[in-house]
Amino acid sequence: MHDFKYVHGELYCENVPVAALVKRYGTPLYIYSQNTLEQHFRKLDKALAGLDHLICYAVKANSNLAVIRVLADLGSGFDIVSQGELMRVQTAGGNPRQCVFAGVGKTEAEIRYALEQNIYCFNVESEAELQRIERVAARMKRRAPVAIRVNPNVEAHTHAKITTGTYENKFGIAFEQVPALYARASKLKHLHLRGVQMHIGSQLTEVAPFRQAVEKVAPLAAALKQRYGIEFFSIGGGLGIVYDPALASGQPEWWQRPQAKSLLTPARYAEALVPLLQPLGLKVLIEPGRFIVGNAGILVTRVEYLKRTGRKNFVIVDAAMNDLIRPAFYDAFHEIVPLRKKSGASTATDVVGPVCESGDYFCKDRPLPRLKEGDYLALLSAGAYGSVMGSNYNSRPRPAEILVTGKRHAVVREAEALPAIWQNEKLAPWQKR
Ligand SMILES: *Cc1c(COP(=O)(O)O)cnc(C)c1O
Repeated sequence: MHDFKYVHGELYCENVPVAALVKRYGTPLYIYSQNTLEQHFRKLDKALAGLDHLICYAVKANSNLAVIRVLADLGSGFDIVSQGELMRVQTAGGNPRQCVFAGVGKTEAEIRYALEQNIYCFNVESEAELQRIERVAARMKRRAPVAIRVNPNVEAHTHAKITTGTYENKFGIAFEQVPALYARASKLKHLHLRGVQMHIGSQLTEVAPFRQAVEKVAPLAAALKQRYGIEFFSIGGGLGIVYDPALASGQPEWWQRPQAKSLLTPARYAEALVPLLQPLGLKVLIEPGRFIVGNAGILVTRVEYLKRTGRKNFVIVDAAMNDLIRPAFYDAFHEIVPLRKKSGASTATDVVGPVCESGDYFCKDRPLPRLKEGDYLALLSAGAYGSVMGSNYNSRPRPAEILVTGKRHAVVREAEALPAIWQNEKLAPWQKR
């Protein structure tokens, strides 16, 4: 299935022309395809069918309530990293009993709240955190379910800012120290050793690092099962997507294309990992974020100005790094296509936003068709780590978000009104006149 495609030269999201949404709601505008979300979840679910498994969607990739609800309706669990994300899951109708709580800095209040809500497990990132969870659970006269996050020290071959599974990173407990930590944790009366977890990084495009990490940690998981009766092994998220041209040309999705053989597909992922996991007899959790939602969203923007300087051809648009920070933050590539297909020669173009930062660009020297003021562009694959990383930098209001299914659409986040940006600010008493 491909849900952002040209029909008679016009970009559609499912059966809705994107231009119609833009006309009604303006730009910048995030648009999500429900069908794409569902298909991605189902593909992964099917690939893992041979295992007792639970997909825990990583909420941080896109925490819109409507996105969470689509996944909750498919039976997804959730990987959360804050009380706010847990409350979002609950507000959207997800089940806290299918939530795992990750992150290196859980506060006492967050631990208490998550325990009250009966989450499935805390994925613990340090000994100090284990002790804190023990204290909070003791006070509540409860036993807290925990899994220790193992850092397997495997190089994920991804961008430095999203590598998490080597000893250079703040995440997890060094592989060699894990058995001793379980031994100490088993003496804490208010902990229930429920599982073991790892997550080696994000946007991985090859299966080898996953295989390496699972091969390394599987024997440990087996030993922990035997010794402490743990019930699950979470292998984390990190499945990469293709950001380069794929959807725009109306081709089948990337993993169905022949040239995608070398890329990480759900089938290849499962083929490599299921045989390693099945013999353990443990429940397997996976925590995909980007894979589920990345290609299910676009950000639409309007061309405001053309500006030619000595050697550069700038297209200044009304979206900016505060709406989508990935190019500035991770040197990320987003395919950029016009809403109405253009023929003719392309020119090397820099698409830039209005924010006062040189880092505020979406592409540099990219061959794009000749554009003019008032044209609209779609930044593809903007569903993950897009809106959630948005800010009000330059006092820019956050854009609206639309969910599309078939011919229907709904506003799932209202565009922010201008005074709302400073509604929590006030003058100091001595400044009053
Ligand atoms: C961010 C994160 C994920 C999701 O990563 P993706 O690359 O979006 O799949 C999963 N697990 C943990 C612990 C994370 O921090």
